[in-house]
Amino acid sequence: MDNCIFCKIIKGEIPAHKVYEDKTTLAFLDISPVNIGHTLVIPKEHYINIYETPENIMMDMMKTVKKISHAIKKGLDADGINVAMNNEGAAGQVVFHSHIHVIPRIKNDGFGLWHGKRPYKKGEEEMAVKKITQKL
Ligand code: 5GP
Ligand code: ZN
Repeated sequence: MDNCIFCKIIKGEIPAHKVYEDKTTLAFLDISPVNIGHTLVIPKEHYINIYETPENIMMDMMKTVKKISHAIKKGLDADGINVAMNNEGAAGQVVFHSHIHVIPRIKNDGFGLWHGKRPYKKGEEEMAVKKITQKL
């Protein structure tokens, strides 16, 4: 993809601090980290998001995520790690090349996590399960 920042990083056209690469995936530091060591794991081929990315490539990405998570935990003494993937604008995706965030967390670092909006009303859970499972 010509105008994709992450494709440019893969091709070496713009610089990035790479931490790991293999045949199908690349991991590099996020330019605007939540905490030091915040890493992005991407496929070397351009796919927009989780819907487009083939299952085997998602699995390759997750293998890299696991490797990086252990290395961040040990190397940076992280107290915890968030693994997150934003898909589509409504979910906060800004760069439209599939990527998984591996974010080191430090106790009391001040970053929160989303909170539940409200409990389920009667029947909503059954309805949600039905709507999801009929599309599996
Ligand atoms: P998204 O919101 O799409 O899940 O996250 C995109 C991430 O890419 C952001 O956290 C942002 O800081 C990071 N990012 C955007 N442009 C660049 C870049 O040119 N280089 C690097 N290393 N990270 C970038
Ligand atoms: Zn791309």
